[in-house]
Amino acid sequence: MAFDLTLTQAQHDLVARTHDFAENVVRPVAQHYDQQQEFPWPVLQEAARAGFYSPLFYRDLIGDPTGLSLPVFMEELFWGCAGIGLAVVMPALALSAIGQAATPEQMLEWAPQCFGTPDDIKLAALAISEPEGGSDVRNLRTTARQDGDDWVIDGHKMWIGNGGIADVHVVNANVDPELGHKGQALFIVPGGTKGLELVRKLDKLGCRASHTAELKFDGVRVPKANLLGGWDKLEHKLAKAREAEKTGIRGRSATLGALEQTRPMVAAQALGIARASLEYATQYANEREAFGSPIIDNQGIAFPLADLAMRIDAARLLTWRASWMAANKIHFERGEGSMSKLAATEVAVAATERAIQTMGGWGYITDHPVEKWYRDAKLYTIFEGTSEIQRVVISNAIAQKDGDVPLHAEMDPDGGPLNKAFGRGTETRTKMMNKAMEAKDKVPEPVLRGAMKLLQPPSRK
Ligand SMILES: Cc1cc2nc3c(=O)[nH]c(=O)nc-3n(C[C@H](O)[C@H](O)[C@H](O)COP(=O)(O)OP(=O)(O)OC[C@H]3O[C@@H](n4cnc5c(N)ncnc54)[C@H](O)[C@@H]3O)c2cc1C
Repeated sequence: MAFDLTLTQAQHDLVARTHDFAENVVRPVAQHYDQQQEFPWPVLQEAARAGFYSPLFYRDLIGDPTGLSLPVFMEELFWGCAGIGLAVVMPALALSAIGQAATPEQMLEWAPQCFGTPDDIKLAALAISEPEGGSDVRNLRTTARQDGDDWVIDGHKMWIGNGGIADVHVVNANVDPELGHKGQALFIVPGGTKGLELVRKLDKLGCRASHTAELKFDGVRVPKANLLGGWDKLEHKLAKAREAEKTGIRGRSATLGALEQTRPMVAAQALGIARASLEYATQYANEREAFGSPIIDNQGIAFPLADLAMRIDAARLLTWRASWMAANKIHFERGEGSMSKLAATEVAVAATERAIQTMGGWGYITDHPVEKWYRDAKLYTIFEGTSEIQRVVISNAIAQKDGDVPLHAEMDPDGGPLNKAFGRGTETRTKMMNKAMEAKDKVPEPVLRGAMKLLQPPSRK
């Protein structure tokens, strides 16, 4: 499907309903959950009742071939509050990893357990990072070994959203440490499994409504059915990895794949924070007077806001493109997913900082939400791959693509063969137009109009 910026009626309605939810359910309680650092259970229930908390909802969003449903939903929800937003969407991150690795039967079994029902909310977590390293996922130390009909997991995980309170933990562990990241596999560890310990809930700078924890896995035993993808697939993957070790060919890990897919999703969340800040700062600058006129009359206030408006729109375009690419299974060969995450998260930090500066002393205190948005935004240049890691991905990708044409030049053309002969800029079309111009004084006007119509290029649709 071609990339198109026009929203469908259903997407328009989704934006309106999500915005209404963010404005009337999320924002009124955002400060409370931030200050108390409390998990927003009632908001999750409301989200589930509104239809925003279920695996089928995400299946619908991810299955949308335009790719736009997912980012527009994320942007509106996170416009409300990023901490609460994270609590609401955390199971979707776990679901994305399950979706990439699981068999259809496993998907059917675990997806509903990631969300539960409005009257019985369940939570899910994606546990990848470890104290010794989050960026370097090739170097994770948690292990899984087979023992009879079970897998036994030992290790230590850090910064895990919903960690220890989740009903479903998707955990990656090394089954063959000699193979590095190619020896990793994903396992389901249900909440309450013996040996799974919530060491501590982490005290955070921002996004404080979300629960983030340190976890230990001490001889955690799960049945072999909890290996995502199953044994045959893992054995095949390990055999290929061993072969690749011998030949020196480098491969991709399921964990890295999951992160790549979720980057536009995270980018759209950051856009929600950025847009909220720009709106708030602009409104304040229009109303606040200093030296006899609104402060927005000063270019020192107005120009940084103009720059932010431009950067937010540019980041949204990158995000929508990456999301459309993911929906249409076009690989991020030039680092397009990382570009969207890098642009959106960095502009979120810049927009929140500028909102505080625009509001002066009022921006620095908790009477207004911008100090909270500033704290929330900072997380976005750190998790799901830091800004530096996005730059590593992009620079590696462009180095590999050195000398290649840009994405749009590589993609199959749209619009049919007539475009080749009569499309804009073709020789035939130019000649015909010139002839028409020469003849214009000799030909009656209705005939001329008809001829001009004929010269229109074939429709795209
Ligand atoms: C609130 C919060 C929630 C999180 N939620 C989750 C979650 O749900 N699940 C999960 O698995 N993880 C989660 N994380 C972990 C997060 O993904 C990691 O913190 C992140 O990937 C960075 O890893 P690190 O903290 O170990 O930093 P490090 O990897 O130690 O990096 C430290 C610094 O070095 C830089 N650096 C590292 N390598 C390079 C390089 N090659 N080139 C240039 N610079 C480099 C980094 O950019 C960074 O600035 C969360 C983190 C936070 C703070």
